[in-house]
Amino acid sequence: MRLKRLTAILKLKCPHCLQGQAYSKIWKMHETCPQCGVLYERESGYFMVSVFIGYVLGAVIAMPVLIALYFTIQPDVTGYVLAATGTIVLATPLIFHYARVIWMHIDELLDARVPPAVDPPELA
Ligand SMILES: [Zn+2]
Repeated sequence: MRLKRLTAILKLKCPHCLQGQAYSKIWKMHETCPQCGVLYERESGYFMVSVFIGYVLGAVIAMPVLIALYFTIQPDVTGYVLAATGTIVLATPLIFHYARVIWMHIDELLDARVPPAVDPPELA
């Protein structure tokens, strides 16, 4: 189960069914899962926590670049700042996507979503 969830996170899939795509376009999320129909944004401001996850991802992405600079050309402080800024700006689409999806998966583990009820067939 953990491997399935990790794979779903890497493929930016739904936190509930692990099948549906979370994003429809590069900057646009689906409002609901195209497979199971759960609502992604549970409440207003739901994705605020993903901003903090994005900070951590930015640091994780920038750190190898800074370490590589330290062991190679050893720039001054301005060089490190520019390298970190450039790396994070280039990685912004990745950070944006993964921060939200990681947050949705953490939230799903803490409090599982309930898919919308299927309308019962009308009785004739
Ligand atoms: Zn789903």
